[in-house]
Amino acid sequence: AVQVAGSINVDLIQSVELLPRPGETVLALSSSRLPGGKGANQAVAAARMGAATNMIAAIGDDENGQWMRSKLAADNVHVGGIATLPGQATGTAYIAVDRKGENQIIVASGANARLAPLDVEYAAAEADILLAQLEIPIETVLAFFTAPSAESRIRILNAAPARPEASSLFAHTDILIVNEHELAVYLGLDGELSHADRARAARGLISRPDQIVVVTLGAQGALAVRMDDELHVPAAKVTPVDTIGAGDCFTGALAALIDGGLAVADALPLANIAAALCTQQHGAIPAMPTRSDVDRFLAA
Ligand code: ADP
Repeated sequence: AVQVAGSINVDLIQSVELLPRPGETVLALSSSRLPGGKGANQAVAAARMGAATNMIAAIGDDENGQWMRSKLAADNVHVGGIATLPGQATGTAYIAVDRKGENQIIVASGANARLAPLDVEYAAAEADILLAQLEIPIETVLAFFTAPSAESRIRILNAAPARPEASSLFAHTDILIVNEHELAVYLGLDGELSHADRARAARGLISRPDQIVVVTLGAQGALAVRMDDELHVPAAKVTPVDTIGAGDCFTGALAALIDGGLAVADALPLANIAAALCTQQHGAIPAMPTRSDVDRFLAA
């Protein structure tokens, strides 16, 4: 089973002609509410890929929270570990998108910021795979990965969004997943890494011989490195309509495939296909493919 400890948000999306400048008020052309949060996105990706998936998270005692709980349950994510916190608001991302697709995002963490180390202490007991991201407190992720029995599980950290202080968690993970931007932030580099430098740079995040670092490379697929070997998996050829949630899809699918017994090298190409399929649909959760979608792509 895959145990996720992570964030639940609602994404409130306003489409506008032009993004407002400081001091300016603009009218939205249309408004929508979508399920979101990296934790919730990855949990749905793992569940659709076929893994028994459990989520530990915190929501507010509001309608957004109930809506997210029911969305996750409808996707077969076990929601018994989702706490409803009195007086708190469910995490909310306020997103403005203009005609060109340029966006501005403000995230109010709400209940996600209250997910406490005590809430995750016993979470490792039933799971084979522990999966976390960085939209909950870093000390909570630390408790999740260092709890009794956590060390004998496979601990996967998607170190996103980039928070430099989270590098203290890296020694407690087995598989670390970052995109190119996050890789540069954790290494303290500004600017782009050249192709030749990427593998060497990714090795800079390794602290034990049994650790794996995976760097997602967008349209170029993904790169996995260990201390003394590396594997580049090219992206599946698709025509993306919207890459929102692709990184979350990749991570959730990889966790599910490893939970299903695949070695990392065999799981990577399938996670890559899942993420490519995710770019062919709008949104994050609505775009997550199932295992049979991936198999159909392979057979085509
Ligand atoms: P993030 O969404 O975090 O920025 P990436 O852009 O690296 O992460 O994308 C994550 C994964 O999604 C990639 O590793 C790849 O598998 C898939 N992906 C993203 N963009 C494309 C694309 N244009 N074509 C095919 N696959 C893609």
